[in-house]
Amino acid sequence: MRNWAGTIDLGPAPVLRPRSVDELRRIVAGSERVRALGAGHSFSGVLATAGGFVRLDGLPPAVDIDAEAGTATVTAGMRYADVAAALHPAGWALANLASLPDLSVAGATATGTHGSGDTQRTLAAAVAGLELVGPEGELIELRRDVDQDTFAGSVVSLGALGVAVRMTLEIEPAFEVAQSVLTAVPLDEIRDRFEEVFGAAYSVSVFTRWGDDASVWLKRRTDRPVTELDLGTPAPGPLHPVPGADPASCTAQLGRPGPWHLRLPHFRPGATPDTGDELQSEYFLPRAAAAAAVEALRGIGGLFERVLHVAEVRTVRGDDLWLSPAYERDSVAFHFTWVKDAVRVLPVIGAVEELLAPLGARPHWAKLTTMTGADVRSRYRRASDFAELLAKRDPDGKFANGFVDGLFGAGSP
Ligand SMILES: Cc1cc2nc3c(=O)[nH]c(=O)nc-3n(C[C@H](O)[C@H](O)[C@H](O)COP(=O)(O)OP(=O)(O)OC[C@H]3O[C@@H](n4cnc5c(N)ncnc54)[C@H](O)[C@@H]3O)c2cc1C
Repeated sequence: MRNWAGTIDLGPAPVLRPRSVDELRRIVAGSERVRALGAGHSFSGVLATAGGFVRLDGLPPAVDIDAEAGTATVTAGMRYADVAAALHPAGWALANLASLPDLSVAGATATGTHGSGDTQRTLAAAVAGLELVGPEGELIELRRDVDQDTFAGSVVSLGALGVAVRMTLEIEPAFEVAQSVLTAVPLDEIRDRFEEVFGAAYSVSVFTRWGDDASVWLKRRTDRPVTELDLGTPAPGPLHPVPGADPASCTAQLGRPGPWHLRLPHFRPGATPDTGDELQSEYFLPRAAAAAAVEALRGIGGLFERVLHVAEVRTVRGDDLWLSPAYERDSVAFHFTWVKDAVRVLPVIGAVEELLAPLGARPHWAKLTTMTGADVRSRYRRASDFAELLAKRDPDGKFANGFVDGLFGAGSP
């Protein structure tokens, strides 16, 4: 069994698919080591198991809307695409989505997954309540308004605190988005007019290969005033983020308004995004470091030529979740979609990290890094609190794996 990209061998571990929460509780209680598997889109060891896997796609999908509270409680193993397909016809929306909607809510939450937008936080920050199966098969309920500090430590969990079965997400009235792309935007302009570029729409992504120019993807809500961006050339037809790739898998562009969930992700539900033949790495930096990071990456532009499909720059509002890569700081995220050749790519990832680490980079939990666990951990103020929480909630390491042990397990820094 392998992850989505086929780059991690998940080993011969059995994958159990319980059909009810009670069955899941029995499986967890009776396992020595177990870990939840979402849609398997991670690239890092966060996904590995030291025992078996449980996959929650056999649990009955449910999206229960509480209009008064402005929340929806969903089966945690559902894909965002399916949650959105239930919310939208009922007149509701999530504030933001990642680049593709095929990720599971629980998997994306556990790793601090994000989309883009100056006002938009990680997807995990929309979680207002959480129901987990703990190591003895017990049900644990946590609510943001009741459990405050513990809650903030439990949402971005790296899958180590239990198996999430239900999540309560903040929702808002459904909205429409029009997506358009500007091409041939000089990277110098992105660097010098960073605030203006990323402030020009509800959600903005900049794609580049670190040459001289970039394309700017603008996702504008139709219920908000339009801010014009006098840069580059409007794309005459639909584009794929990877230059020259077929845009058939992408959501509609050319300014055609449509429902939030069919515009905020770059890719349509079920489509093979990017090239499907890839590795990924990504770093969250303090927003104030954006110009310095752009300059630094351009300085090693030559290294990217044969190994990079495309890079993406996004913005993420800060939050209060202990292990969120945007913890306590408004962030700019630098993402890299690499060719699927670790031998050639890892040295370039190392070179990128040499430049971005001193600027405060926190690597994405689900993507590749050459940084040590100790280095990564030192970038989180509440790391020791998380280690303590982990020791209390899962003292025998039922949900442990080598990745989490290296960061927060007994004997970790
Ligand atoms: C093509 C592609 C595009 C991507 N785009 C983005 C993007 O736009 N933004 C971004 O930030 N990231 C992006 N990612 C990375 C992706 O968001 C993360 O890998 C995310 O974790 C994937 O969710 P998943 O459901 O596949 O989780 P998995 O990879 O299956 O699992 C991730 C972690 O969550 C844990 N987990 C899963 N289910 C549960 C559960 N029920 N309870 C507790 N823990 C659980 C797992 O044990 C594991 O530790 C992308 C990845 C790919 C392949």
